[in-house]
Amino acid sequence: MRRIAIEEAFVTQAIADQWKVILDAGAVGEPGFRKMGETILADSPGTRRIHERLIDLGEGRLEDMDATGVDMHVISLTSPGVQVFDGELAAELARDANDHLADAVRAQPSRFAGLAAVAPQLPEVAAQELQRAITQLGLCGVIINSHTKGEYLDAPRFRPILEAAESLRAPIYLHPRTPAPSMIEPYLDYGLYFAGWGFAVETSLHAMRLIMSGVFDRFPELRIILGHMGEGLPFWLDRIDNRYLLQVKIGAVDEMKRLPSEYFRSNFVITTAGMTYAAPLSLSLEMLGSEKILFAADYPYEDMAEAVEFMNTVDVSDEVRRRIYHENAEALFGIPAAA
Ligand code: MN
Repeated sequence: MRRIAIEEAFVTQAIADQWKVILDAGAVGEPGFRKMGETILADSPGTRRIHERLIDLGEGRLEDMDATGVDMHVISLTSPGVQVFDGELAAELARDANDHLADAVRAQPSRFAGLAAVAPQLPEVAAQELQRAITQLGLCGVIINSHTKGEYLDAPRFRPILEAAESLRAPIYLHPRTPAPSMIEPYLDYGLYFAGWGFAVETSLHAMRLIMSGVFDRFPELRIILGHMGEGLPFWLDRIDNRYLLQVKIGAVDEMKRLPSEYFRSNFVITTAGMTYAAPLSLSLEMLGSEKILFAADYPYEDMAEAVEFMNTVDVSDEVRRRIYHENAEALFGIPAAA
């Protein structure tokens, strides 16, 4: 069975270098990124090993994929990407990363596909870069690492990005990062800002802002991808609906055309990235159906072998397994079915 993993990370040396520059200069107005930088950018055997794998868009990555039976990586710029830089620098580094990723995809078209990076700081520039990445570079979607300097994509100024993503049929992978400065404070203790909890809170909030702001009435064909089994949202959908209905009744929110869960079901898909447990998968299958769940490993942060072992053996029909492993990804990204 073909295996396509769709939340697989890379970085360019230029971007990793610039993260260090702004952290060393104390020029990051984001406590979350500062805190994360202390560990992930520190020099240790573990971080060096991850960095080597992030940089590798060639033999090393292919060997890891072969060793675990993963046929294809849909590769994207690792979090927080260029979203921590000032606009001009961010746009330049995103363009450069897209060129680099596109070269790797062209060299290995049956093994790699790629999502574009953009600098949301400059929405018009980001929309143009997305257009270039899809129509000229052959990339198949876009990654947004949640908030950009504390702002979320429902803000009117980001409209050009959503417009471009919809018209180019480029799904947006809404990927986690540390919570925005406005809510980071209580997450700074006990490691709560990190991937075990803060990332999911940040990203599910972002998704809920898109839903509750009516973005999908304006952009009904926009597709959003959430990792980590939907960042918890499949678990909450029914309660979100019934409290929304109450809140409409008491005048706490404006009524939308559809229920929150209806937007979630029509405009979102989710991935198994970093989730190798049967219960959340089974709940997600029940809430969303097997057409809405895609395989991902979150390389090189998570163990690809464990992700494959889980998906090979979890108790679902082979029809469902095929959808999750490759058919849904082929349909979403326009990846040709394997010969
Ligand atoms: Mn990831």
